[in-house]
Amino acid sequence: MNDAAYDVVIVGAGIVGAACADEFARRRMRVAVVDREVVGSGATAAGMGHIVVMDDSEGQFALTRYSQKLWQELRAELADDVEYEQSGTIWVAADEEEMAEVHRKHAFYGERSVPTEILDASALKRLEPNLGDGMAGGLLVPEDVVLYPPCAARFLMERAQRHGAELLLGASAVEIGQGRVRLADRSEIGGGILVNAAGAWSSEFTPGIEIKKRKGHLVITDRYPGFLRHQLVELGYLKSAHSLSTDSVAFNVQPRRTGQILIGSSRQYGAEHKEVDQHMLTRMLQRALEYMPGIGAMTAVRTWTGFRAATPDKLPLIGPWPGDKSLYLATGHEGLGITTSLATAKLLVDQITGSKTEIPVEAYLPTRARETAHV
Ligand SMILES: Cc1cc2nc3c(=O)[nH]c(=O)nc-3n(C[C@H](O)[C@H](O)[C@H](O)COP(=O)(O)OP(=O)(O)OC[C@H]3O[C@@H](n4cnc5c(N)ncnc54)[C@H](O)[C@@H]3O)c2cc1C
Repeated sequence: MNDAAYDVVIVGAGIVGAACADEFARRRMRVAVVDREVVGSGATAAGMGHIVVMDDSEGQFALTRYSQKLWQELRAELADDVEYEQSGTIWVAADEEEMAEVHRKHAFYGERSVPTEILDASALKRLEPNLGDGMAGGLLVPEDVVLYPPCAARFLMERAQRHGAELLLGASAVEIGQGRVRLADRSEIGGGILVNAAGAWSSEFTPGIEIKKRKGHLVITDRYPGFLRHQLVELGYLKSAHSLSTDSVAFNVQPRRTGQILIGSSRQYGAEHKEVDQHMLTRMLQRALEYMPGIGAMTAVRTWTGFRAATPDKLPLIGPWPGDKSLYLATGHEGLGITTSLATAKLLVDQITGSKTEIPVEAYLPTRARETAHV
């Protein structure tokens, strides 16, 4: 591929790079994607695949809801192994203070036409009998979805390839800019537009991007069909996801189509090794047991870690990178990149082609990130 000229060269074949490749290619642009490993091998392979509407900020809500609708539209075309299931989320309130948050979320979503239902303690127990006793209630968000991220990324990349995109695997980018991606073997790939979609590693070859690696652990159990019906997330999760400095864990469990239970989640800064941190794993599982004691009797079959790409204001970077007309970013999706991949691709390609975007892009422009800092 040396010195071939493409309209677009994307670095990173995670779900974000794959979604961008698909969107560019379907708009008839000549696309090349390079990845040092394989499709969906980074955070995409590690993620939970919860397609979830979030309300941390108006920007986060708009992006997650827009993208969720795009997933809904894509549903009929998805391959079976993407395991798209509209399981719904229940935000679990452990006490009355968290019930107040249930009511706040219900009002927020209601004002924005997202269906939700407030559950009292008995309704919660009816829907999820294996939750521990003493929970105050919860909020059911029925349109949230669960899918299997690596197969979703592969689906998008294969569709991009059917529209002419070229994929170069085992190719490590060392420099990106001025219409060229330089690879570790010193070859170069030329493109009018370059997209850095390298997730937690984006800042390694675009200096100045404020992205930190935020490590997470997950555990998957053996098959226990029927034990869990919805994705259950403690409302304390919001505190954990908001904390920008401390290590945290939260109860977050997901039913897989196989009957397996995926147990999360943890968040850590400063732990850049892939190995499991036993103290975080122990804390995470203890938290899960507090909410669902039955998990204690289950067999875990695998534990792994992954790295979220965290920005200072918890919103991704989607758009032109100042100082280099050829360079665009599609990165910094932290714990929501599976959800927001499709909307990211639409917003990026709409900006580049001068099309009207479905939602305002200002909150995601990389220029806004340069004015803030990690706290
Ligand atoms: C534990 C955990 C749970 C999560 N749960 C969810 C969830 O339930 N829902 C949700 O929406 N999101 C979730 N996420 C977040 C989600 O996984 C990520 O936001 C998303 O996968 C990011 O995709 P990406 O394509 O930007 O990055 P990645 O998937 O990390 O892809 C980046 C790619 O770039 C490649 N690359 C890096 N450097 C180079 C280089 N120099 N040259 C060439 N290639 C390079 C890598 O090999 C990789 O393939 C979770 C994340 C974690 C860690």
